[in-house]
Amino acid sequence: MLDAPPEPDVLAIGRDLAAALPGSSRHPLKVLDDRAMDLASQDAELRAALFRFVDVVPACRDLDDLARHLTGFLDEVPDRPPPLQVAMRMGATKAGRSALGAASAAGVKHMAHRFIVGETPKDATGVLEGLWKDGVGTSVDLLGEATVTAAEADRYAARCHEALDGLHEVYRRLPARPRLEADSFGEIPRENLSVKVSALTPLLRPDAPERGKRDAAPRLRDLLRHAREVGAHLHIDMESFDSREAVTDLVLELLSEDEFRDGPSAGLVLQAYLRDSPDLADRIIAWASAAGRAHPLVVRLVKGAYWDHEVVEARQHGWESPVFEVKAESDRNFEALTRRLLDARGAVRPAIASHNLRSVAHAVAANRSIGAPDGDVEFQVLRGLGDDLQQALAARGLRVRTYCPVGDLVAGMAYLVRRLLENTSNESFLAEQASGASIDKLLAAP
Ligand SMILES: Cc1cc2nc3c(=O)[nH]c(=O)nc-3n(C[C@H](O)[C@H](O)[C@H](O)COP(=O)(O)OP(=O)(O)OC[C@H]3O[C@@H](n4cnc5c(N)ncnc54)[C@H](O)[C@@H]3O)c2cc1C
Repeated sequence: MLDAPPEPDVLAIGRDLAAALPGSSRHPLKVLDDRAMDLASQDAELRAALFRFVDVVPACRDLDDLARHLTGFLDEVPDRPPPLQVAMRMGATKAGRSALGAASAAGVKHMAHRFIVGETPKDATGVLEGLWKDGVGTSVDLLGEATVTAAEADRYAARCHEALDGLHEVYRRLPARPRLEADSFGEIPRENLSVKVSALTPLLRPDAPERGKRDAAPRLRDLLRHAREVGAHLHIDMESFDSREAVTDLVLELLSEDEFRDGPSAGLVLQAYLRDSPDLADRIIAWASAAGRAHPLVVRLVKGAYWDHEVVEARQHGWESPVFEVKAESDRNFEALTRRLLDARGAVRPAIASHNLRSVAHAVAANRSIGAPDGDVEFQVLRGLGDDLQQALAARGLRVRTYCPVGDLVAGMAYLVRRLLENTSNESFLAEQASGASIDKLLAAP
């Protein structure tokens, strides 16, 4: 495996990227959001109350109902900051509740808009075009509710099918952006759609993985065919650990089929918080090296979005947790896996998905240390959380793609809560950055 890049190089790249981060003064609304995030990150009970509130918004009948829920949750928080004391007082009268309900509904919607780029792919056109013009690619993700029937799985597959057409319409008209459209190994599609296997079948269960795979396969195969027709990249997201094996097997099995040898470009996700992820990386790389596909397999490296869920689930069953329990271990493993993927470039295309400046700077330095051009590694960020980093990466001429959720704001609530949880968890890089930690501390080796 590649050696770690020289530490001074990582630090110099990290500092340079930090210098390219935009000042939040240019985005007055962003400061408002950041204050709300700050408030939530200060107090665990307040955070829990706000998340429970965001979660029930879709189920509330009217403004009065919304305000009653909000004050009910806040009532359980012992030390309420002054703005929330005001909210509690408003909740005492009917008129106050209407005003509070309207304000909180607007607040949640405003937050949701930060993370969700439009209700339909068509609504998102302006954002996708704007990003492309700024030198940023995208991967569109269609939000939906949990798939519990075959009809819902069919509907999700149909929406993905249409989205591929929609993306093709948007991107075929846009001007050339050579940095986003090729690396040393060939062309990179402009259109990029991320899909979830759990939305393509109601049968994805840990006790019967084969059934879930069998049921999802025809829908995923149809999407792969359509992606090939329109020249799009199809990316399969990774979810919780109990579906990891089934999702990985399904993707590799379908991509091994003869009809997909020449396309489409496709990819999957490797989660560095999993203790056994180095073994999975080896398996994926061995598969990709032997597959002989026309497009290298894109491997999006993430830390993993289901940390709390995995820890609780393992504790409940008395199992050893499948995820690292010390943050630095996930960070170190992320760096080791970054080097493992860079070493296999050509068979795979590494996509480093992180908002952590240290993790990103390490990847840039490791890629340069093997003499590879910057364009051979892709960086990915989430819309709403990684906007500043996205701008800095593009400003420094690096290849960056922003993951853009599209969908109904109400149905997207589960997604919103997950993003808020990530942003305000005390150990997250973004929370540390927001708390004013020094650049030396932020860039220190894990
Ligand atoms: C473009 C994009 C696509 C993504 N797609 C997926 C996907 O398909 N599947 C998926 O699971 N995630 C996905 N994620 C989310 C990702 O897994 C991370 O949750 C998120 O990016 C935060 O990691 P970070 O490196 O940005 O931040 P950091 O703050 O450096 O890391 C936070 C992460 O560290 C880990 N962590 C936190 N506390 C501990 C602890 N005590 N011990 C060990 N580890 C800990 C968790 O994974 C947590 O999310 C995606 C992220 C991006 C940017």
